[in-house]
Amino acid sequence: MIGRSMSTAYNTPMKRTIDQVDVAGKRVLVRVDFNVPIEGGAVVDDLRLRRALPTLRSILDRGGSLVLMSHLGRPAGIGFEPGLSMRPVAARLAELIDREVFIPGDDPIVDAAKLNGHDVVLLENLRFDPREKQGDAAFAESLASLGDIYCDDAFGTAHRSHASMVAVPQAMGDKPRAAGFLLATELAYFDDLLQHAEQPSVAVLGGAKVSDKLGVIANLLGTVDVILVGGAMAYSFLASEGIGVGESLVERHRLEEAASMLASAAAGMTKILLPHDHVVGQKPVAGTPTQIVSDPIPAGWMGLDIGPETVKRYSEVLHESRTIFWNGPMGLCEVAPFGKGTRKVAEAIAEATKSGAVSVIGGGDTAAAVAAVGLAGDMSHISTGGGASLQVLEGAALAAVEALD
Ligand code: AMP
Repeated sequence: MIGRSMSTAYNTPMKRTIDQVDVAGKRVLVRVDFNVPIEGGAVVDDLRLRRALPTLRSILDRGGSLVLMSHLGRPAGIGFEPGLSMRPVAARLAELIDREVFIPGDDPIVDAAKLNGHDVVLLENLRFDPREKQGDAAFAESLASLGDIYCDDAFGTAHRSHASMVAVPQAMGDKPRAAGFLLATELAYFDDLLQHAEQPSVAVLGGAKVSDKLGVIANLLGTVDVILVGGAMAYSFLASEGIGVGESLVERHRLEEAASMLASAAAGMTKILLPHDHVVGQKPVAGTPTQIVSDPIPAGWMGLDIGPETVKRYSEVLHESRTIFWNGPMGLCEVAPFGKGTRKVAEAIAEATKSGAVSVIGGGDTAAAVAAVGLAGDMSHISTGGGASLQVLEGAALAAVEALD
């Protein structure tokens, strides 16, 4: 597996990319994921905007014009809401691409004539219209009529079958439907992880719920060499082995599945490693009394981070690895002192990456945790899609990607 560059054109497995489409003089309807945090009327993290720039610039540089569409937050779906308007996004994007970004109306659906004379149009929040989430065909037809070409660059939304992701490309008729560079890059990284990972390959899985990750673990058994488990989900695995976990978060109804996952791993090539020492606290809050314990966790205490011995063991595995995927913090990382395990794992992954390993960070909380310890620039790839990357790693098809040429 090789490191990938966003500006490099290459084939996504079987999907046409936007550089392979003649866009000169054409209006390209691009589904982007501009669902970014906004505070005080301004974008506070523009990573998703910057990651879309290679696609947007490629279209503009070749003489195409842009009609961009995205959702933002969770509107009620009953029309315009000032707090969830795309206006702050348009303002930040205009700075990044150094062009005027025109919003043609308060509804995402507008008359095509309104777009004339504008190179960069950003439609209002798609979810102002309830038909976006319903995947409505008539809504999709109206959006599709605004473009000569469809381009999907919204990996962060690729696990959703909303109208702009699936029904719009379907409504384009004979017109081209291509992947943007961000989508293509993301898919290529995950395809490499599943199909061509250089060994030893390691998946680090943490976070709150084992139920979110069982599908991924099932699919990775037999694919990666080692799965390192941390976060609250580890306690469901430990409980499934009959180890006392005190008051730790456990999904009791998933213990059987967790046990059978461990049994499959024991019988196969993939090792699942669990934490066996823990930073425990009496409550999941700052200032709670803490101690470091080995299994079992005593009654009255909850596991809130992996312990120092586990950090050491996981770091050794990571230092030896050539391919790493990470999704989910190792503990209650937002609350001191329970962020240490997550930070140490991030450091080990950063060191492994410097020694030539390929590291892929699976979006959301994990990307935020890596950024919080200042190591984002040391990873090979930070995915813009937490949910989408997990779905891909579960081995499930993405309807939005299937809908492309
Ligand atoms: P997820 O959305 O599944 O990736 O879970 C991320 C959340 O799980 C973060 O807010 C973490 O603080 C939280 N978390 C991770 N480990 C623990 C733990 N041991 N106890 C409580 N919360 C945890």
